[in-house]
Amino acid sequence: VLKVVENLGVSYVRGSDSYKTKLENELRKLKFPYKALAEDDYEARRKDHISHFILRLAYCQSEELRRWFLQQEMDLLRYRFNELTDSLRQKFLEHVNLSFEAISEDVKNELANELYASTPGLTMIKVKEQMFYKVGLVDAVDLFRARRVFIKDGFAYVPLKEIDAIVLNNYRTKLSKALALTARSLPSVQSDERLQPLLNHLSHSYVGPDYSVQKNTGKISLEQIDALSVKSYPLCMRQLHKALRDNHHLRHGGRMQYGLFLKGIGLTLEQALEFWKKEFIRGKVDADKFDKGYAYSIRHNYGKEGKRTDYTPYSCMKIIMSNPPSQGDYHGCPFRHSDPELLKQKLQSYKIPPSGIAQILELVKGMHYQLACQKYFELTHDVDDIGFSLNHPNQYFAESQKLLSGGKELKKELNNSGNSQQKSNSQESMNSSSTPTSSNTTADAELEGLEAYFAED
Ligand code: SF4
Repeated sequence: VLKVVENLGVSYVRGSDSYKTKLENELRKLKFPYKALAEDDYEARRKDHISHFILRLAYCQSEELRRWFLQQEMDLLRYRFNELTDSLRQKFLEHVNLSFEAISEDVKNELANELYASTPGLTMIKVKEQMFYKVGLVDAVDLFRARRVFIKDGFAYVPLKEIDAIVLNNYRTKLSKALALTARSLPSVQSDERLQPLLNHLSHSYVGPDYSVQKNTGKISLEQIDALSVKSYPLCMRQLHKALRDNHHLRHGGRMQYGLFLKGIGLTLEQALEFWKKEFIRGKVDADKFDKGYAYSIRHNYGKEGKRTDYTPYSCMKIIMSNPPSQGDYHGCPFRHSDPELLKQKLQSYKIPPSGIAQILELVKGMHYQLACQKYFELTHDVDDIGFSLNHPNQYFAESQKLLSGGKELKKELNNSGNSQQKSNSQESMNSSSTPTSSNTTADAELEGLEAYFAED
């Protein structure tokens, strides 16, 4: 839900009719109980509360996560608050101890001239139509300072359209403090072995198809890869592919990220071994060293070594949130991990028009990395609206192929594989972002071990 809120907040003017309609449709699709208060649905409200508090635990862990969570929660609250009827709004205000009192019609008529003169943007007719609240000055400092409200006897008379700003400010302060407090108590929560893996994965969880089994396996030839990397790779994979071709080597973070992606787009184990070997032996690694060291990790990715777990390609959240690249690494998400100036140069070299680059950099500045990637997709594929919410590099590839092939064979097959995997339950999906399809912490630990084994490279 919060990802949808983020997406729409960037693509539409918040509060506009199109924003509201789109958000309402999306929330309905996701079965989010945004009208639970209006419908007095206790169970739905309970679930909403529980999920909110779980997310607090997961998203209090870093400044970046906290900021993102706050922003989306604020946008969601603004929408839900404005959707309430007058009486429910009053009930809500009392419930959250913001006991602003709506003034009666008589008082409003009495003060109509003053309200009209002191409230910018309201005609006399609007004054008559609007509800006004009597608010203590402490809560209306900003409005008072900006001379946007009528003041009398120590109270501000705030029109309904400005009340949401007060409610949101109040909520922001409280939620921000609560997140800081939760972060402080994290060590004790994390010592609970039942909660720890869940919390670690939740902030970068991914619940879409995991792209581990592809019906198009073997349908891509190694000769096509260079062309595909230009046409259909997201920037993260294009960067890895180029670095591999240039340096004939990738360090372990890059090999994991790119290797699993290649598996996801349909490379067979034999093709993967051939692909990596050809490239590595052009550099400093000889065939013998490759067979003894690197081939093992490739077979491992395909579930042919160790615990024989079939590993899934990394989702965007996993790439963005974990294992940031250091000097000499090419993995990670360029929208998240590249210096903006370098990103700009890279986009220029890929012939992205200046206005598009400006839009992408603006999204990056606002920390909307996946939306920046969506914009990159739109610009490189010459479409106005990407038409899907991007969560996975393999999804990017599949959607690109769908578009470029006019939606023929590959499209059908990738969709099929996606659907089959969407059936997995939410717990499995949550863990799928962390790699093993058969999702368990043992397998996860084994992968960590494998990464460490090759870490020196
Ligand atoms: Fe790759 Fe996802 Fe970043 Fe796009 S948003 S570059 S697909 S990690």
